[in-house]
Amino acid sequence: MTNKITPNPGCADPFDEESIGLAEALARIEARVRPVLACERLPIRDCLNRVNNEAVKSPHNVPPRANSAMDGYAIAIDSLVENDIAELEEIGAAYAGKPFTQTCNAGQCVRIMTGALIPEGTDAVIMQEQVEIGANGKIRVDADHRVGENIRQAGEDVSRGEVVIEAGARLNPADLGVLASLGIAKLQVKRKPVVAFFSTGDELMPLGKPLEPGMIYDSNRYSLHGMLSRLPVDIIDLGVVRDNPESMREVLTGAVSKADLIISTGGVSVGEADYIKPALAELGTTEFWKIAIKPGRPLTFGQIEASLFMGLPGNPVAVMVTFSQFVTPAIELLSGAPMRPPMLFRARSLERMRKMPGRTEFQRGVATLDKNNEWQVGKTGKQGSGILMSMSRANCFIVLPDDNAGVEPGDEVSIQFLDWS
Ligand code: AMP
Ligand code: MG
Repeated sequence: MTNKITPNPGCADPFDEESIGLAEALARIEARVRPVLACERLPIRDCLNRVNNEAVKSPHNVPPRANSAMDGYAIAIDSLVENDIAELEEIGAAYAGKPFTQTCNAGQCVRIMTGALIPEGTDAVIMQEQVEIGANGKIRVDADHRVGENIRQAGEDVSRGEVVIEAGARLNPADLGVLASLGIAKLQVKRKPVVAFFSTGDELMPLGKPLEPGMIYDSNRYSLHGMLSRLPVDIIDLGVVRDNPESMREVLTGAVSKADLIISTGGVSVGEADYIKPALAELGTTEFWKIAIKPGRPLTFGQIEASLFMGLPGNPVAVMVTFSQFVTPAIELLSGAPMRPPMLFRARSLERMRKMPGRTEFQRGVATLDKNNEWQVGKTGKQGSGILMSMSRANCFIVLPDDNAGVEPGDEVSIQFLDWS
């Protein structure tokens, strides 16, 4: 007998042997998630942010034919006179959508507007600012010009047969424009993954009722709703589930037939009211349940029948951190897109940050540009995992890797901008 208690590993420890690292957790997620297979053919406007199913090849050249990049005069470079000024006869005009249909011969030129087809017999467009109009009405051009000047060549944007959008690419606004420029009105995209989510906790109260002693309002379901609503997924809000094994079993078995991914918050620690881990063990398989990050160490990932399951921690900041680091990539994979590494930027820390090596920390920060246009970052006040205002005020995470042993003012750190910053 000693007069000291040897503690078990807990949330306060910097290092815990049962935890896996951030990179390993992501690798296991990548290995486990299978993309949805079903597709739908939609008008291209509805394809924004959706995942393209099959590589799109261009059916023709863009632009389809050579046209003018400027307002000016279409000429043949052969009409110019070395070390002198050529005087060219203007024989007509070409407009966008209204081509000039005759041939332009030596000594002649055609007035041309931006976007008009290049007339037969011409091979350059001289900007109108670079010519003079003679008293005789002739167009005066010096010799300082070259073939192809101010001409957009056929196919210079996209050539026929070229792959313009890869399979698995998420469609951005420019992609919609590219598809439209090819005359493609509909596209086959993967269906949206369905994501169901619920909060757990006997202490949670719905909004609209006065708080009773010992109770708190359920905020996680609202931040989750906010984060999910920004993604191309269909969401099902399953409400609040009470802390007992029967309710957990009921909500999980009900959700599996409906959702590709089920997310819960709370109940993943090792307290007496934490029923997520045993429920997953009973109904499905567990891939991991602890990650060496802060906040957000208890995070259960597994599968129940065909549905993935992610049990996020209960603390409101930990919910948002684990969502950004693990749920977002899992949804990316489910959608049929590749997992993207986080976009990290370098910034100079304005503050001292205490940290022990052993896990990756996500402090909440505000990044601003300094007078040299370089990022500098400070923390958003108190950083406890229950302090949701630290998230609300932030525009970035300050990501301190597991080997980091603290930061001094002026040290370089990595920042990851929040999706909505
Ligand atoms: P748990 O892991 O369930 O013990 O939750 C950890 C902490 O997060 C507790 O203080 C909970 O009250 C809090 N919490 C859990 N769920 C929510 C929620 N939906 N909204 C706000 N706080 C929550
Ligand atoms: Mg709880």
